[in-house]
Formats: sequence, structure tokens, C-alpha cells
Amino acid sequence: MIDLSKYTKELSNLFSSAENILLISHINPDGDAIGAQLALYHYLKVQNKKVTLLSPNYLQEFLKWMNGAELINIFIRERAKSKKLIAEADLIVMLDFNQANRLGEAEELVVQSHAKKIVIDHHLDPSDFVDLIISEPTMCSTSELVHELVCVMNGKQFISKPYAEALYVGIITDTGNFEHGSYSSRTFRIVAELLDTGIEKEKILNLIYNNFSSDRLRLQGFALNQRMVVLPEYKTAYIYLSKADLLSYNHVKGDTEGFVNLPLSIKGIHFTALFIEKDTFIKLSFRSKGRFPSNEFASLYFAGGGHLNAAGGEYTDSLDNTIDYFLKVLKENVWRFEDDI
Ligand code: 5GP
Ligand code: MN
Repeated sequence: MIDLSKYTKELSNLFSSAENILLISHINPDGDAIGAQLALYHYLKVQNKKVTLLSPNYLQEFLKWMNGAELINIFIRERAKSKKLIAEADLIVMLDFNQANRLGEAEELVVQSHAKKIVIDHHLDPSDFVDLIISEPTMCSTSELVHELVCVMNGKQFISKPYAEALYVGIITDTGNFEHGSYSSRTFRIVAELLDTGIEKEKILNLIYNNFSSDRLRLQGFALNQRMVVLPEYKTAYIYLSKADLLSYNHVKGDTEGFVNLPLSIKGIHFTALFIEKDTFIKLSFRSKGRFPSNEFASLYFAGGGHLNAAGGEYTDSLDNTIDYFLKVLKENVWRFEDDI
């Protein structure tokens, strides 16, 4: 087990001396970012701390039901209020990211704020823009890390139901419901403790995974039938969706979540990419099996990052040109598949 005591003394001191704590998730927050943010919120509230919550942009539908989600201020919706929250905070905790640009439009205000700043995260290569970096890439999720820190700091077991629910959401979403290899036996011990609080796992699974529109399912069928390209010679498959494609299926935020994983089920495919056309750029998601470093690929060519097997980035060009560029750099990286498993 990792020794977290190297962080917890300073973390406890920062929490106890703070009067006004602001917890921030990353832009396009996923289940782990919101799960870790809300779990820490529920923990700190029980310690009678003043805590406020901020997300750079909107939450996806499948996370809005969570206990405390309604308290998260959305920077791009409530700019004046959000700026005030940042200005008033004396401690800012950032969850599930380690680069300042993941703060979106809040970046400058947060970086320049006089508050003490902490990052709690499980991605590789944290950048040094805060006072305390708690970075543990071996953890399956930031939610798992938050729980481990709380266990050390609290000295005894702290688990309330809303806290357990938030952690459970973070863990299941970041491991793809225990499909990705990033979880450990420790993860299952934690999950066992969470389930012991009586959280309704069936209900939570349905709210997260079985809560989509029929249009979303049809969009998935369309993407696989009409927009998937398989390149066996490169062990790669990719899916692309234009703005018009999304519009014709009444796309809402979150609808394409998970599409990038689908082609990994094809035998011999070790690397997948998803291209989504946005207003001014193309958003890319990458997934890999084995040792192909999605994060290195994302950061080298698409100004992004992430984990070895799950990463993302952006490219500012047309959809066609982005795909051409992707194919060009993919060919340059084909050697990376050679010692792949
Ligand atoms: P997703 O494909 O689910 O959007 O993202 C997968 C992983 O890649 C996440 O862990 C996320 O942190 C990372 N990621 C996605 N997009 C970006 C990006 O634009 N920049 C960076 N640095 N990481 C990203
Ligand atoms: Mn995460």
C-alpha cells in the first residue's frame, strides 16, 4: 500500500487553517472529477468547514442527480459569482487534473489567486502550479485517492452515505465499471466498504449507464456502421462524427461518451481514436490496450494528455485535415506497436 502520510500532515494543516475552501473539478468533468469533488465536500462539511464548489463548465446529464451536484457553480454560466468564489477562497483544491489549462476560462483567475492551492490527482506528469501536489498515478481514480487520504487524516473510518455514493460513482466511471486494468485489490476492498453503507448500487448503475435517449443509441449504431474505420495493419480503429451527424441525432452533451472504447473489442485492435467536430476545433479521445502510450501520443501531437490507456486532446483544423494528420502521425508511431502485447 502507498504511504500517503507524506501528504496528509500538510493537507490536514491546510484544511484546518483554511476558512474558505473552494473545490474545483476539471473542464468537461467526468464521474471521477465530480465524485472526488463531492466526496471531499461531504467529508469537509462534516468537519464544519465552509466549502464551495466550482466546475469550469456544465455537468453531463448522468451526473446531475448526485447529492450536492446542484451546489456546483458553473463558471461559464455564473461568471460573476464564480469569480467572487475564487477571490474569496483562501484554499483551492483541484481534483482529477494536474495542468492549469484544464481549468478552462477560470485558469487565469485561479493561477493568480492568493489562495493556497492543492492538486489531488492520479494522472501522470503533474505540472508545478500549486503549493501541494498529491499525485498518485497508480490509483484507479482520484476518488480512490481522496478516500485513502481521508482514511489517513481522519484516523478512523469516515463513511457517510452521500460520501460513499460519490466515491462509488468516481470509481465505477474511471474503471469503466471495473473493466480497465487500473484498479487493484485495494479498490475492491474500498468498494466493499462503500457498499456496506447501504448505497443502492443497482440504482446508481442505472442512473449512470442506462439513462440515455433512444437517439443516443441510434447515434452509436450510426457511428459504428457509417463512421468507423478499421486499420488492421496499424492495429488501429477510429470513429469520426461531424457536427451535422450529431445534429441529426439530437445530440446532447455526454452522448458520445464511451464510443471510443467500442472498437477495442475488435480482435487485433490495440488503439482507438474518436474525432468529434466542435465549433472551432476537433476534440479527440484515445484508448489503447497493452503498452501503446495514448497519453504520449495525445501530448506529442494533439496538445493533450491523460493515462497510458486513456487520453485525449484537441486539434484546430477541419475534420478531414485532422484525420489526415492523425493518419500521418499514426504511421510515424507504428513502431510503438512492435513490443505490444
Ligand atoms: P476522455 O476521452 O474520456 O475525454 O478522456 C480520457 C482521459 O484523457 C481523461 O483521463 C482525461 O484526463 C484525459 N484528457 C482528455 N482530454 C484531454 C485534454 O484535452 N488534455 C489533457 N491534458 N488530458 C485530456
Ligand atoms: Mn480520474
